[in-house]
Amino acid sequence: MLFRSLAAAAALLVASPVMAQDLDLRAQVAAFVQPSNEARTAVVVAQLRAAGFAPTVETFTGGNRQTGEMEGRNVVVTIGDGPREILLTAHYDAVKLRDGTMSHGVVDNAASVVGVIEAAKILRGKALTHRIRIILFDQEELGLIGARQWIAAHGLTNVAAVVNSDVAGYGDTMMYGQNNGAQSAFVTRAVQELCAERALQCVGYPEYPPSDDRAFSAAGAPVVSLGFQDQIGAHQMWLAFNGGEANGLAEGFVPQVFQLIHSAEDTMERVDPATVALAGATYAAVVERLDAQLSR
Ligand SMILES: [Zn+2]
Repeated sequence: MLFRSLAAAAALLVASPVMAQDLDLRAQVAAFVQPSNEARTAVVVAQLRAAGFAPTVETFTGGNRQTGEMEGRNVVVTIGDGPREILLTAHYDAVKLRDGTMSHGVVDNAASVVGVIEAAKILRGKALTHRIRIILFDQEELGLIGARQWIAAHGLTNVAAVVNSDVAGYGDTMMYGQNNGAQSAFVTRAVQELCAERALQCVGYPEYPPSDDRAFSAAGAPVVSLGFQDQIGAHQMWLAFNGGEANGLAEGFVPQVFQLIHSAEDTMERVDPATVALAGATYAAVVERLDAQLSR
């Protein structure tokens, strides 16, 4: 009897489509563990093709003072059509560690990339009035270079809003930055409305760590940067960035997420595919909401 019910339970688990998707998403994130960012470009392109998209690779001359001139590659997909665009973005590059090896770069930021691809798959089925441009940036870790180069090459004339994702590997709490200028207020408001509507735990940060969003807000575009973390970590991070001297955190305390990103600790053990799925669904809903609001 016990054996039979265990077997029945196991059969149910195997049959569960949610679990199959989780395994899939986990494998997709793990595929980004590569010895170079060039190899990561190939992974982005392959995953987009496998999802039925026809990505283009836009090369640029990047690099910074430390690296010297270095070619970079942004990977781009468009969905639908319209005179105005909403951009959904995440960087796929990983940092080089002090010992010369590459960080696995999964929490930062392969999990976001896979989440954005999931969002793209959802958005492809929607009737939207904006063209959606998915951009997976290179060289964020060298100083937002892929994003800056994209803006320099294309301009922002037709860009109505930008949604960026950085650090979305685990946890059920969505983080959003509120420091991208007055032009971005309607984007953060759309995020807040969605959080309320979905009863999603969200935390807004008056000060939020920089990602490619800063390249866009510096150029005047409306933009929000999103991420995911566990609830405690999200609040500790809020206090670390926004709590001032009297933030109540222990002397020298560093939130867990900052101990693991840009280190050898940013590994698949940290990644929860449920967060990747949640991020994908939520990002798609944010874009859909912005599309509707901007079309009124
Ligand atoms: Zn990052």
